Amino acid sequence: MKKKKSACLPDKILVRSFLGDFKDDKKAKIADHIFSCLECWTKFKTLNSLTWELKQKEKELPAEALTAAEVREFRKAARSRLHEMRKGPKQPAPISFARRLILIVATSLAVVMVCLCFLLCFK
Ligand SMILES: [Zn+2]
Repeated sequence: MKKKKSACLPDKILVRSFLGDFKDDKKAKIADHIFSCLECWTKFKTLNSLTWELKQKEKELPAEALTAAEVREFRKAARSRLHEMRKGPKQPAPISFARRLILIVATSLAVVMVCLCFLLCFK
C-alpha cells in the first residue's frame, strides 16, 4: 500500500517559512515536508530563484526613488499584466464573413467531389 503523504503546505505558509517567520521546531517540520515532497520542493526552488533574480535586479535600481507618476505607471502596468494573466490565453479572433463564405464553398465543393467520385466508381 502507498504510504500516506502528509498534506502539502499552503503557499502562504511556504512563503512565510521562506521569509523566516517561524520558530525552529515549526521550521524543521516544514523543511521535512519540503525535502520529501516534489511539489513543495519545486515551489521552494522557485522562491529561491526569485530571490536570486531580485538580488540581481537590485543593482539596476535607480539611486533616486521613483516619482509619483512613475509609481502610478508601474502600478498600472502591473495591474494590466495581472489582469491579462487572470484572463488566460487570448481568445482567437472571430472568423470574418468572407472567410466563413470561403469555408462553406470549399466544404460544399469537397462534398460534391466525393459524390462525383462515388457516382463514377459505381457506375
Ligand atoms: Zn507538499
